Amino acid sequence: MALGWKAARFLHHGARIAATPVAAGPGGRLPPLAGPQRVTGAQTHNALDRFISYGYPVYCGGGTKPVVALTFDDGPGPYTQEVVGMLRQAGARATFFIVAKEIDGWPQLANEPRQEATVGAIGDHTWDHVDLTSATEDELQHEVVDSQQLIEEHSGVAVRLFRPPYGRRDLLVDREIQAQEMVEVLWSVDSQDGENGTSGAEVLQNVEDGLRPGAIVLMHENRGTTLRVLPQILAAVRAKGLHTVTVPELLAADPPSMSQLKSGNCH
Ligand SMILES: [Zn+2]
Repeated sequence: MALGWKAARFLHHGARIAATPVAAGPGGRLPPLAGPQRVTGAQTHNALDRFISYGYPVYCGGGTKPVVALTFDDGPGPYTQEVVGMLRQAGARATFFIVAKEIDGWPQLANEPRQEATVGAIGDHTWDHVDLTSATEDELQHEVVDSQQLIEEHSGVAVRLFRPPYGRRDLLVDREIQAQEMVEVLWSVDSQDGENGTSGAEVLQNVEDGLRPGAIVLMHENRGTTLRVLPQILAAVRAKGLHTVTVPELLAADPPSMSQLKSGNCH
């Protein structure tokens, strides 16, 4: 399947990561949130290979570089276009964990999740968004493998990341994800935008409080609340001198140490 030109550019040239805080240029126009230092496509590919071979869930980067990974779960959905448009306009990068049934659920979004792939990386978030720790072996296969294949067909990119719904995992889940050659990605910061009744101000505060080098931030692609505060979240990333990267770019640029990985402890 042919790739869109932006996705192809990402795969071939990788992302840009700056080591220093950025300032507004002429006319007050801010430089892209992804800065001048490159991580190549080959480096992200190798980093994914390495972390798949380790088989541990990833909660964060190493915290040694000024980079954060914003992640958006549960799409595609009604806000996909706006979220992608905002990120693109800001020059930001992100990772999208796709629920396979939503691809069929939003047939009017013919380009999903190809569209998300133009501003970052795509991951598998199961077919039906179920708790995998109570799934049978057959269900586990369906939720992990069939969804991976459908998302690959629709996005045109290899799916090498997986996020278990609700963060619910056990050894069987971990092994299945590793067997399907994906890295299991959790998070170090929960925006709590998935909870009913969380206000935009609270979502923004939760993210701001957790923004530090190496953070993986959990948000959702299908929440109007998150969409409304996304410009402020991106501004907060800038204000802290941080740069947005995808999860594969985080693993290449600022990998967690073996002890962070084994303990699941980010600090
Ligand atoms: Zn989810």
